[in-house]
Amino acid sequence: MPDTTPPTPQPPAVDVLVVGAGPTGLTLACDLARRGLRTHVVEAGDRLLAGSRGKSLQSRTLEVFDDLGVADALRAAGSLFPPMQTWRDGVRQGEWQLIEPDPQAPVSRHPRPWLVPQWRTLEILRERLLNLGGTLECGVRLTSLTQSDTHVSAEVTHSDGGRHLVSARYLVGADGSRSTVRESLGIALKGEDGGLRSAVVADVRVRGLDRDNWHVWPDPAGELLLCPLPGTADFQLNAKITGEEFTATPETVRALIAARTHLSADAVTAVGWFSFYRPRTAMAERFRHGRVFLAGDAAHVHPPGGGQGLNIGVQDAYNLGWKLGQVVRHDAPDALLDSYEVERRAAAADTLELSTRLYRAGRTSRDPHEQARYRGRVCHLLSVHYRDSELSTDARARRSPAGVRAGDRVPDLPCVTTEGPCGNLFELLRGPDFTLLAVNCALPAAAAGLRTHQVTGGPLAQELGTGLFVIRPDHHIGLAADGAEYLEHYLAQVGSEGGEM
Ligand SMILES: Cc1cc2nc3c(=O)[nH]c(=O)nc-3n(C[C@H](O)[C@H](O)[C@H](O)COP(=O)(O)OP(=O)(O)OC[C@H]3O[C@@H](n4cnc5c(N)ncnc54)[C@H](O)[C@@H]3O)c2cc1C
Repeated sequence: MPDTTPPTPQPPAVDVLVVGAGPTGLTLACDLARRGLRTHVVEAGDRLLAGSRGKSLQSRTLEVFDDLGVADALRAAGSLFPPMQTWRDGVRQGEWQLIEPDPQAPVSRHPRPWLVPQWRTLEILRERLLNLGGTLECGVRLTSLTQSDTHVSAEVTHSDGGRHLVSARYLVGADGSRSTVRESLGIALKGEDGGLRSAVVADVRVRGLDRDNWHVWPDPAGELLLCPLPGTADFQLNAKITGEEFTATPETVRALIAARTHLSADAVTAVGWFSFYRPRTAMAERFRHGRVFLAGDAAHVHPPGGGQGLNIGVQDAYNLGWKLGQVVRHDAPDALLDSYEVERRAAAADTLELSTRLYRAGRTSRDPHEQARYRGRVCHLLSVHYRDSELSTDARARRSPAGVRAGDRVPDLPCVTTEGPCGNLFELLRGPDFTLLAVNCALPAAAAGLRTHQVTGGPLAQELGTGLFVIRPDHHIGLAADGAEYLEHYLAQVGSEGGEM
């Protein structure tokens, strides 16, 4: 019998309750747990979502995963994207690249997108979270929430019908596009379908098709694609659908493949996870209400053009994680949490526009080279910046107009410090802390409590120029200054413990 006793309030049990164990929720939970915050994730599903869905991990996302300690596992689980192969009447039309790396792109140790089925990314993040001491419960759905000045009280319902209250200092709704958290707060999701065509996505096994290509069948009814998924015998099917309705079943998926390719329905030996969906472009009116935040698809919904959906959710998490960490552990001012929406709304708006444009263009361009160059230029997410944020202070008297500015992702370039050559910068930045770089100048006294490095040479010093640079835990330059006079104010803004050495 389900327990229908009214739930009794309990004392705050966790610092942050994360609702939803998708890529956004799990990334955030890993970042919070490594900062020592009591972090709990509730996931409505009885298990993590199956399905290859968001399979492309962009350069910037790989950098984040590197910092969170899961890049090696993802590298082992994935592959580079194979070349595209267009088919017509059962005949190969030749290979082409979907993306050409942009030689002008910011330098990254992960210059190309990496192909990993989403379910595998989730497994890897879950394992990391548990190792870091975070907790996760599946089969537990958030059903409502209330909040006060001091905490959030969330009612959760277990799959057996039992209910209880979880009390947390903060709650993050990473519960996907139909977010219960968003609805509970009465926050509207504004946008339109923009006339985008519906699509079927499915994980299928297919006989008689090589796994060295991402196969494309152009069709007036809508292109159909089959992408081999590394570490499995599956392909991810993507097919656009004309008209309003399509009832996705294993049979209709098989029939669709038979109708649009040279393969027979019998060649489709298994149909696993599948979904029919209508892409939307929409954004929540707010990303924060008091102690509750929205992140990932709960905050903005994208069509899957350009493989951005999963990636932008991961970036939301990486932006919010350190801010919650500073407020909970270091008493940073509450205003720090407002910067999450300011910074991420602008980034999400740009990505929404990009995803919509790329979804419309499809992957059967008449000029594949031009399209590949364009995708290479815009999809890596390395150029996302927070220059307009109140958290970005560029107080240098002289800086080159084309150079790196406060708010930019700091370049991951080799550098020499007083300790000697030390590889690329992100090695020094690894971990959840702020870092002060004194480039070709002395470290100021007010730097106690900060991780510090005196950079004396190498491409990094050339790129940044002389000065002091506070690097945020998410690798963005917070403060760039000629001297120490701005340091104290900046550190107070972010709740960092600067002080006399
Ligand atoms: C059918 C489909 C196909 C897609 N294909 C692609 C693609 O090809 N390429 C691409 O880049 N992106 C694709 N995406 C988008 C990508 O998968 C998402 O952008 C990404 O998963 C967003 O991550 P998220 O963590 O924000 O949300 P989700 O991945 O949606 O995770 C939300 C989680 O919250 C849980 N949840 C929901 N409500 C509650 C509740 N009340 N209580 C507790 N838990 C709850 C859900 O069960 C889910 O596990 C696709 C999405 C869909 C739906």
